[in-house]
Amino acid sequence: MLIKTLVRVTLDVKGHKIVRVKKTSMGIEVHIDRSRRRRLPCSQCGALAKVRDRLKPRHWKHVPLWGIAVALIYSPARVRCPSCAKICVEDIPWAQGKCRLSTGLIWMLSAMAKLLAWDVVARMFSVHWNTVRAAVKQAVDYGLKHRELGTVLYIGIDELSRRKGHVYVTNVYDLTDKKLLWSGEGRDQKTLRQFFQEHGEALKSSVKGVCCDMWKPYTDVLEAELPNVPLIFDKFHLIRHLNQAVDEVRREEARQLKKSNPELLKRTRYLWLKNPENLTEQQRARLGYLEKLNLKINRAYLLKESFRELWNYKCKGWAKRFLGKWFWWATHSRVKAMRDFAWLLRNHQEGVLNYFKMRITNGLVEGLNNKAKVISHRCYGFRTAGTFILALYHCLGKLPEPKIVHRFL
Ligand SMILES: [Zn+2]
Repeated sequence: MLIKTLVRVTLDVKGHKIVRVKKTSMGIEVHIDRSRRRRLPCSQCGALAKVRDRLKPRHWKHVPLWGIAVALIYSPARVRCPSCAKICVEDIPWAQGKCRLSTGLIWMLSAMAKLLAWDVVARMFSVHWNTVRAAVKQAVDYGLKHRELGTVLYIGIDELSRRKGHVYVTNVYDLTDKKLLWSGEGRDQKTLRQFFQEHGEALKSSVKGVCCDMWKPYTDVLEAELPNVPLIFDKFHLIRHLNQAVDEVRREEARQLKKSNPELLKRTRYLWLKNPENLTEQQRARLGYLEKLNLKINRAYLLKESFRELWNYKCKGWAKRFLGKWFWWATHSRVKAMRDFAWLLRNHQEGVLNYFKMRITNGLVEGLNNKAKVISHRCYGFRTAGTFILALYHCLGKLPEPKIVHRFL
């Protein structure tokens, strides 16, 4: 097979032909000409028009062949467009606008940017990092324009931080389809309200449940925007809050023991946080010893362990009874952090118990969020929330792609 044929397949052109393929020191040059007597489409309106004259030759970077750079060289024609009633440049089938990369290369870059760090992709194809970003942007814009949201039944909302909390984004996930629906900068009311401005109307009739953390800015907006949709406080967030409370008790007590027995609680953090079945022999022995002492952290630990029983309940009524008992234990434990956690539950009881009517969790969201973290780590060029959001849509949005992508991958 000739390289000519190969290039023709990847370009899929009708009104143009490949006249010459040349190997130069710069790589492979593919010279293209228009097919004679053919009318060409106008770039402004798409109408077929007669060719008037030709512009100077232009170069486009195409998908490299076995690592050898490929350049497309062609003199664009100017057409006398009848519907625009003026002279326009023809519509170039392998490129868009003034972009110096072929459409094939753009989609190739964006596809690789899903798998690899963007600077690696840039080096691989010897383009600038900004070019990779632009390619991803084009892919995401295309995908957002062409996606069909269909009926979204359950949504999960979570925040994500970048650069040690300097950049926050709010992500809204479709829990049924396991994909990112929307991402916006910030984690306040304004951010979430923007989501509802963009998608609210379409969602209001279909959404059956929303899963999120007990974060007031979100819950306020949700109550206003979806008043009849049950809010479910995410199980994994609850467990995290509880673990944080337990850890706070340990740190506090370790501080108090600093003078009398500084070694006692050293390196015991995971002893208290792990589920007992996951402890090693050694850890179990140490925990067994600590449990015999009358420590505050042990009281917190017992509360944490008994709280796990909650998730076994099948019906809301029984779960509610258990929560009532647990609330009493926690508020009488004389451990402040546990008392605070119990009150947090009490103040959000409806949302906590809704889980027993509708078992959705952000566990999936956690999975997606972890992926998002990986994405943010491998792309240290993400200084702005905008680029970060772009990458999130690209990797987690399950966005549609045009057929051309499959010509290369
Ligand atoms: Zn026109």
